[in-house]
Amino acid sequence: MHLEATRLRYMLRLPGMVSAEQTRAQILDGRVMADQIKQEVAVEVRRLLTERGVKPRLAAVLVGDDEASAVYVRNKVRACAEVGIESAQLVLPASTNTTDLLTVIARLNQHEDVDGILVQLPLPKQIDEPAILAAVDPAKDVDAFHPTNVGLLAMGRPRFVPCTPAGIIELLDRNQIEIAGANACVVGRSQIVGRPVASLLLQRHATVTICHSRTRDLPAVTRQADILVAAIGRPAFIRGDYIKPGAAVIDVGVNKIADASEARNLFGAEAGKRIEMIEKRGYTLIGDVHPAEADLVAGWRTPVPGGVGLLTVAMLMRNTLQATKWRRNL
Ligand code: NAP
Repeated sequence: MHLEATRLRYMLRLPGMVSAEQTRAQILDGRVMADQIKQEVAVEVRRLLTERGVKPRLAAVLVGDDEASAVYVRNKVRACAEVGIESAQLVLPASTNTTDLLTVIARLNQHEDVDGILVQLPLPKQIDEPAILAAVDPAKDVDAFHPTNVGLLAMGRPRFVPCTPAGIIELLDRNQIEIAGANACVVGRSQIVGRPVASLLLQRHATVTICHSRTRDLPAVTRQADILVAAIGRPAFIRGDYIKPGAAVIDVGVNKIADASEARNLFGAEAGKRIEMIEKRGYTLIGDVHPAEADLVAGWRTPVPGGVGLLTVAMLMRNTLQATKWRRNL
């Protein structure tokens, strides 16, 4: 009720401040930046092969038949092929238990030719996820989820940096969005996105606020942010009145919506295309940010799809290259 009233006041105030035309957010195209990063990796991979006879190799472990996880792994394997990294995909049945998976991880740890290991999350419920992440050799931990790598990052001495947070920093840097001195707000405190991205922003001298489900008056906090990172997992949760005019809004969320009338309200000029997608595939993807409202207020916004997700894959390629060099003292 209170939020709705705030939103209404804010929307009423908007036209008097600046016109919608003037405030339309610049879209931060993840594809262009991901392609740049992959090209840089590909050049270095070729150099390693010609000068040292070394080809980086990534092992991707997928447990069970979760459709989204299978797509993520497929995209990662495809990116490996693009940059010249060799990849092996290990698909294990949904009934796999912790002991079985620990055995697989131990084998990959020992395998001299494997430079990077990634275990696609989430794992089936019966598997002890923290035990698995802690079993990956920290030197091959290209997702940076091992406690040693998490600790190094928290201490400000990162070895590997988790791919999504690393991609977010890269995206800000490559668009000359200044981090030092900015008020940054991260909504979400997960181990894979919220906490590490907050750590990285702090290391880059932003003034960082981390919000979560117990934060009081969330819009009042997020409205202070020059850089707003939304990693919540709730479709279009961040509305126009959560955003400081001119802010850089980084939308990490990946959610599905299947309702065409909802899509009409959410996507503004893009609504027609999204409705077509719903009719064809049964759903369209949306982030944690309300795109049409954000576009009237923000200075920059990452799209979903086509934003942070693509950077995540590119940073995995970079981490795998890095692992190859460190392990082999190259
Ligand atoms: P998660 O582990 O479920 O964490 C969600 C966070 O959001 C939690 O910290 C939670 O707070 C907070 N939250 C939930 N409801 C909230 C509310 N009403 N107000 C404020 N905070 C709230 O999610 P995750 O793994 O970080 O992923 C977040 C989203 O990013 C998902 O949509 C996921 O699919 C997507 N994702 C995308 C990529 C990519 O490459 N694009 C990578 C990873 C994740 P509490 O801690 O208090 O519960």
